[in-house]
Amino acid sequence: MQELDTPTFRLAVAQFDQAAEAMGLDTNLRERLKLPQRSLVVSLPVRMDDGRVEVFTGYRVQHDSSRGPSKGGVRYHPDVSLGEVAALAMWMTWKCALAGLPYGGAKGGVQVNPKSLSPGELQRLTRRYAAEIFPLIGPDKDVPAPDVGTDAQIMAWMMDTYSQQVGYAVPGVVTGKPLSIGGSLGREEATGRGVVYVTLEALRHLKLPIEAATVAVQGFGNVGSHTARIMQQHGARVIAVSDVSGGIYNPNGLDIMQLMQRDLRQPLHQTKLGDPITNEELLQLECTVLVPAALSEQITGKNADRLKCRILSEGANGPTTLEADRILADKGIFVIPDILANSGGVIVSYFEWVQDLQRFFWSAADIQNRLQDIITSAFHRTLQFSTDRRVSMRMAALMSGIDQVAQAHLQRGLYP
Ligand code: GLU
Repeated sequence: MQELDTPTFRLAVAQFDQAAEAMGLDTNLRERLKLPQRSLVVSLPVRMDDGRVEVFTGYRVQHDSSRGPSKGGVRYHPDVSLGEVAALAMWMTWKCALAGLPYGGAKGGVQVNPKSLSPGELQRLTRRYAAEIFPLIGPDKDVPAPDVGTDAQIMAWMMDTYSQQVGYAVPGVVTGKPLSIGGSLGREEATGRGVVYVTLEALRHLKLPIEAATVAVQGFGNVGSHTARIMQQHGARVIAVSDVSGGIYNPNGLDIMQLMQRDLRQPLHQTKLGDPITNEELLQLECTVLVPAALSEQITGKNADRLKCRILSEGANGPTTLEADRILADKGIFVIPDILANSGGVIVSYFEWVQDLQRFFWSAADIQNRLQDIITSAFHRTLQFSTDRRVSMRMAALMSGIDQVAQAHLQRGLYP
C-alpha cells in the first residue's frame, strides 16, 4: 500500500515540528498541518510504442488550501513516492506563505524515468495523468507547474487535456507553459534568477564582494544551469557544476553559456571543459557560494562537516537534513533555506497565473523587477526575524510561513 512515512516526509515533518515547537503553535493546528489536506493516487495505463500497455503510478497531494488555490510542481522521477510528494507539497505551503503569495501548497508526481520514454509515450502518460487528476485541478483549485523531469511542453499537454475536458482554453490551470498559450516571459529562468537575487543579498549582508565570489552548483537542470549563468553575468566565478553522472571543475571559472549550449545528451564530465569531479567532491569544494540544485537530502550528517562554503543557497527542495543543519550552524555557514532561495519559480508562476486570469501580459523587465522586489523583501524579513528571535534562517523562514498559514486557519475557523 501507499506509504506516507518516507525519509523526505520525515524531514519535512521534523522541520515543521521544530518550528511549531519554537513558535508554540496551537496543538490542533499542529496535528492538521503535519498531514496533507487531500491526497490522490492514480494508476496510469499507457500504450507504449511497441504495443504493450504499461501501468505507471502517479500522485497529486494538496497540503493546504486555507490561503488560496494550492500550487506546486509535477515531478517525473523513478524515486517519486507518496511520502516525497507529500513532503514537497508541505514545503510549497510554507514557501508560498513566506513569499506572501495567495496560494496553498501542493505537489504531484509520476514514478517514471522520463528519459526512458519516447516523445509519444511521454505525451500519452502526461495526458492520462492530467485526466486522472482532473477533478482536483483548476485555476481556482490547484495549479500544477514544472518540477524535476517536467517542462513547458508537458505543461502544454496538461493545459490542453484540461481544456479539452471543459471545452475551452484554460491557460490558468497550469504555469510554466510555453509563451504561445499564456506562458510568462522569464518563467523558465525564474527559480535560478531568484536564487541569484537572494544570494546577492546574502553576499552584501556578509560584506563579500560579488567579483571575488566563487560558486559551485550541484545539478545542471533548469535551476542549476540558470543559477550558474546568471551568477556569472553578475560577475561571480563559477568554478564547478555537475549533473547526475558527475561534474567538472575549473578554478579559473567555467564558460556556462558554452556548457548550456552543448549537445545535452553529453554528460558534463565528458565535455573536457574542466577537470572531472564527483558530486560528493563538488559539495566539499572551497567556495564562497554552494548551490545544491538537484534532489533532496544531499547534505547530511555524513558530509556536512566537510563543506567549505561561506553561503549555502538551496536551489533544490530539502537538500539538507536536520543533522546537517546543526553542523552547518556550528561551522558558521550562512544558509539561505530552500523555501526562500528557490521561491523565484513559484513567484513567477504567480505572475503567469495573474496574467492568464487578467488576459493582460507584462514585459520581461516587469517580471524581473517584481520578482526581485518580492524575493528580496522576503530575504530581509527572514533575516530580521532570524536576528530578532535568535533562530536559524531556516527556522525563521519556516516560522514566518507557518504563522501566515496558522492565522488563516484560525481566522477562517473549523468547518463545520
Ligand atoms: N516546482 C517549483 C517549486 O518547487 C515551482 C512550483 C510552481 O511554480 O508552482 O517551487
